[in-house]
Amino acid sequence: MAAVVKEPQKETSATCISCGDAFTLDDEVFLATIRFLVVGASVLEQHLVVDDHGDFMYEPLFFHIECWEAVVDELREAYEDIPPLEHGEAVRTCTFCKSGVLQWEYFARANIGEFHRSQKSPDGNLHHRFISFDKNEGSLMCLSCMAYVRSEVLEIWGEVTQDGECDDCAHDRCWRDGDCDCDCHEEGQESDE
Ligand SMILES: [Zn+2]
Ligand SMILES: [Zn+2]
Ligand SMILES: [Zn+2]
Ligand SMILES: [Zn+2]
Repeated sequence: MAAVVKEPQKETSATCISCGDAFTLDDEVFLATIRFLVVGASVLEQHLVVDDHGDFMYEPLFFHIECWEAVVDELREAYEDIPPLEHGEAVRTCTFCKSGVLQWEYFARANIGEFHRSQKSPDGNLHHRFISFDKNEGSLMCLSCMAYVRSEVLEIWGEVTQDGECDDCAHDRCWRDGDCDCDCHEEGQESDE
């Protein structure tokens, strides 16, 4: 074997959803995944939102630290003077608006970490996987905050809803009451026409 020392490739194939740049192995990044909690027999079970085949319903999103901070800074600012919507059955609190999150309600969980080179790459390509080094659960963003982000800050999470509701309904958490008369719940009937 020739002793050729090659500078290992540092750029990964993953890109930041905000600025579009590829990450390198040295970058600290945030990974945001859509999840929900269910009150189990003795523990609170946390699940990723997946389809019938076990695939992600909503693509996990990666951000540079500073790109993520730019998004959540706007969010914090927007909710600074708005009192949180508390709820007796909340199982978590949104990190940003401080409102309650109930079981079954979707939220984005953001964890800090970095990319590591995978040991094996059978197809000869360089692979990387994200390893979180968060010691705790990370930060948690409710559906209302995600609706604010997509309408005011960055066009992400366009399809992330509890039940197909519009952004106004997301802010009202209308799925909790079940008798909302907003037009967004009538789409099924209109599409028959
Ligand atoms: Zn970025
Ligand atoms: Zn929130
Ligand atoms: Zn609506
Ligand atoms: Zn509604």
